[in-house]
Amino acid sequence: MGAETLSEIKFPRESWDEYFYSIAEKVASRSRDDSKVGVVFVDSENTIVSTGYNGLPRRVSDDKTRINDDKEKLRWTVHAEANAICNAARTGMPTKNCIAYVTKFPCSRCAGELVQAGIIRLVTFGKMWKNDPNGDDGRRSWTILSESGVAVYAPKILMIDAKDTYAPAA
Ligand SMILES: [Zn+2]
Repeated sequence: MGAETLSEIKFPRESWDEYFYSIAEKVASRSRDDSKVGVVFVDSENTIVSTGYNGLPRRVSDDKTRINDDKEKLRWTVHAEANAICNAARTGMPTKNCIAYVTKFPCSRCAGELVQAGIIRLVTFGKMWKNDPNGDDGRRSWTILSESGVAVYAPKILMIDAKDTYAPAA
């Protein structure tokens, strides 16, 4: 027998993962990049600590000469994960022991930065980069996260071809 209240029947609640991930997707929508990425950091009490999306640094013009060429654009862009870390630093919010909701599997640089920021769990329903910003194939990112003990929940990545699967051993 269900114990739902009328409001829960009419508006069933999402899980925390679904809820925060949907916020990360909304954050991504602020990006002006073709590859929109959003990140939300959440602490152990389900409070949002920081958000970030990929883009040029604050007040830096996204002049066409800087963003039209992909290689050049990468040199100007701050990744979403790095922006979430920087935004937390700006406001003095601790990121230690937070969960990161990320709309794309992190590149290897961001994976390392998430580890250093103290992120303990990463949730993404996104896939790995086909053309990783660091020329990576996701293998380094996966190794960085798993070796450092970050719990990764990435169901879409488990569905890719077995030879490309970097799932942790059961
Ligand atoms: Zn990155």
